[in-house]
Amino acid sequence: MDYYSSQITKLIEELSKLPGVGSKSAQRLAFHIINMPQEQVSHLADAITSAKANIRYCKECFTLTDQEVCPICSSNKRDHKIIMVVENTRDLAAYEKTGKYEGIYHVLHGAISPMLGIGPGDIRLKELMQRLQGEVDEVIIATNSSLEGETTAMYISKLVKPTGIRVSRIASGVPVGGDLEYIDEVTLLRALEGRVEL
Ligand code: ZN
Repeated sequence: MDYYSSQITKLIEELSKLPGVGSKSAQRLAFHIINMPQEQVSHLADAITSAKANIRYCKECFTLTDQEVCPICSSNKRDHKIIMVVENTRDLAAYEKTGKYEGIYHVLHGAISPMLGIGPGDIRLKELMQRLQGEVDEVIIATNSSLEGETTAMYISKLVKPTGIRVSRIASGVPVGGDLEYIDEVTLLRALEGRVEL
């Protein structure tokens, strides 16, 4: 039975498709939105539509950006010879928040997971290897310490080593299976500074 008007039901349905939003939260959000001033609702809707329409991958590091080349890759204040490899843009943001990392990044958009059927060809590894043909001194592997992250780190180190470029892995101490974005800045910095050469 449809307790609400079909429009509200539709809104609740769409909201409940979002990660971490259960049906109760979806209801709460839906009613909150309906009670918001029209102008605020329009801003929210516009922000969603225009983010989706304008955000793309940086053509160098593949992070999400609204420019062809992201601000980090186009900055001359960054050390372009040090590339930190992360699983996603959220992990990049976590390192950026520390304000202490001066190199650039490479965003894989995933990790190798034989269980989920995600192979090396499904993440941005080929693109990483292409970047290494330029002038690069070090590749810092900062994938998560989950099984997938470790598998990916091993795979990358095997690919990079023959090139003669230094390969390092951020120190353990980052909780196993922990998503980098949930780790505090001090722990992240310690992991970065304590990185070990592979
Ligand atoms: Zn970039």
